[in-house]
Amino acid sequence: MRPSIVLVAIGEIKGNLLERLREELSVIFYPLLVEISGTLSIPKEAYNFSRKQYKSSHFLEALKIYATDKNSKILGITPVDLYTKGLNFIFGQATLEDNVCVISIHRLKPEFYEQAKNEKIFIERCTKEAVHELGHTFFLNHCPNPQCVMHFSNHILDTDRKSKNFCEKCQSKITEKIKSLEV
Ligand SMILES: [Zn+2]
Ligand SMILES: [Zn+2]
Repeated sequence: MRPSIVLVAIGEIKGNLLERLREELSVIFYPLLVEISGTLSIPKEAYNFSRKQYKSSHFLEALKIYATDKNSKILGITPVDLYTKGLNFIFGQATLEDNVCVISIHRLKPEFYEQAKNEKIFIERCTKEAVHELGHTFFLNHCPNPQCVMHFSNHILDTDRKSKNFCEKCQSKITEKIKSLEV
């Protein structure tokens, strides 16, 4: 099977976000095929009533049904706010062994910070977080270079500061990983 990245909505993703992500990821992860596949419903058991947030591990678990081929990386995109133990919130999370990752677009919208709606900024942020989590599924670690997409984002300003691309070092790692998938 041709190595690919599979985008899966978990809950309702409005507008053309998935299509825009498909375009952006096709360039960044070239020559991998990027496809949009199916929709999962939001795992109800993930909801934490006191935090009013969803626990990310349930989303990663749900995505595993798509991870049937070792050459595919699965990216879930959800509109709800995610958290994991020890953190107030997360923009996204990846599991290394299972080839699955998830991003939450909840805190990527300028409106979340009481700023005017801005589609360009929103798509850019979604792309950065998607590339970052997919990078983890290729076993890349966090990068000390604040411009690199693999730099850890603790705050939306970190996301805005970094680019959607890998730095030279991380790019050579990812190129090697993609090549190893093709054999
Ligand atoms: Zn990370
Ligand atoms: Zn880097």
